[in-house]
Order: sequence, then structure tokens, then C-alpha cells
Amino acid sequence: MNRNVVNILGYGVDTFTFEDAIEYIYNRHGQVVTINPEMILNAQKNKDFSDVINSSEMIVPDGVGVQIGLKILGHKVSRIAGIDFSKALIQKCVNDNKNIALVGAKPEILQKTCEKLKSEYPNINIVYAHDGYFTDENEIINEIVPLAPDLILVALGAPKQEFFISKLKKQLPNSIMIGVGGSFDVWSGVINRAPEIYQKLGLEWLYRTVKEPKRLKRIFPTLPLFILKVMKERLVPNVNR
Ligand code: UDP
Repeated sequence: MNRNVVNILGYGVDTFTFEDAIEYIYNRHGQVVTINPEMILNAQKNKDFSDVINSSEMIVPDGVGVQIGLKILGHKVSRIAGIDFSKALIQKCVNDNKNIALVGAKPEILQKTCEKLKSEYPNINIVYAHDGYFTDENEIINEIVPLAPDLILVALGAPKQEFFISKLKKQLPNSIMIGVGGSFDVWSGVINRAPEIYQKLGLEWLYRTVKEPKRLKRIFPTLPLFILKVMKERLVPNVNR
């Protein structure tokens, strides 16, 4: 299976279906970036972040913003929610008796996440779990490397999780690593995920914003600015890079 990427503001987004994306990364290994408009705009101002995204093994369109942006550019892709994608990877690893590591979130959230995962998947093999409030990332990396987990889920928020993974990847090329943002908060049961109807309509961001109004600052002006840049890109390709 080969990658087929479509470009948006300088980033090549994979067009795999959900199932093919799982199959591809499961065999290929490496870093999965679940990209959203906020990350794209940040990366345009941060060369290191941009390089990390572009050297990842797979970039999936998380959220409706990137999907709309790609539609404006004439590409129809189905969105892949990072939280669902990570869950499917966990399921596959459990089926194949592979090892899993979790890094990130607050200590009590991480603990609850591990408990929930263990009750959902009694055979899960969690070989490492560390909260996301550490001072020396090298210490964590040095603890993970000898364990060589097959799947490493990193919940530090973007771009911290992508930088962390990119560093870890140099020593663990045969692992699958994915930045999962606030997924542990949801899996622990501490934060409720948007009801399915919001997910289906691509309105999870609306639900999250109503629940956590401080997120509004992240959406505005990010989303309108992103759409504006995409429209400019359609008129004059490469104008935003
Ligand atoms: N986080 C962390 N260490 C940090 C900063 C953030 O572990 O230094 C965690 C935070 O507790 C939360 C996650 O990273 O669980 C980020 O969640 P957010 O909702 O911001 O991510 P998003 O899904 O919006 O990218």
C-alpha cells in the first residue's frame, strides 16, 4: 500500500480510509501526526515544527477544519479522528499481543486511563506509563527505549508531543508513535467526548468550546484565518508558504 497525499498550505495530508491508514502504519511503523488548522498555522511560523510534521510517516486529517480546507482545494478526504484512530491501534496491538506505552496528561488522569484501558482490554500489555508533567524528557526517553514498545501514545498537546515523538523515533524506528492530544482526558472519563451526533456532523469543536469556553481563544482567529489562507492558496498556489 502506498501513500497518496494531497497538499494543504505546504503539508501533505494522507488520503487513506480509516482502515487502510491503520493497516499502513501498523506495517510501516513511525510517527503519525493528526493534523488540524491550529497545527498548520503554528507550523508555518515554526520551521522545526514544520520539519517534524513533514518528516512524519503519516499525516491524517483530524477534525473538520482540514477536511473543509481540502474541499476548498478540490480534494475530498474523510476525516480521521485521532482519538478513534489511537483506539483502533490499541485494539490491534491487544489482538496481536503487542506492547503499549503511554506518556502524558496529569498523573491521576493517566492512572485512570490505564485502569479504564485494562478493564476494556483485559489482555492489554501496558509496559510503560508516565504522566506528562516531567522536566527532563531525556529521562523519559531513556526509560522507554530499552522497552521498545510497539505502540507509544503521547498526550502532551501539540506541538510538544510531536517534538517528543520525533526525538524518540530516532532511537525506536520500529515503533508506532502517535500524538493523542487530550484523548487520555476523555478515556479516563474525566472529560466527556461530544455526543455522536456532534461527531457525525463534524461539530466536536463546537461541543468542546461550549464545555470549555477558554478554547474559543484557540479557535478564533485560527479557523477563519486558516480558511482565508486556503482560499488564497486556491487562487494563487504557494502564496502562503
Ligand atoms: N499535557 C501534558 N503536559 C504538558 C502539557 C499538556 O501532559 O506539559 C497534557 C494535558 O494534561 C492534556 C493534553 O496534554 O491531557 C493536551 O490536551 P489538549 O486538550 O490541549 O490537546 P488537544 O487535543 O486540544 O490537542
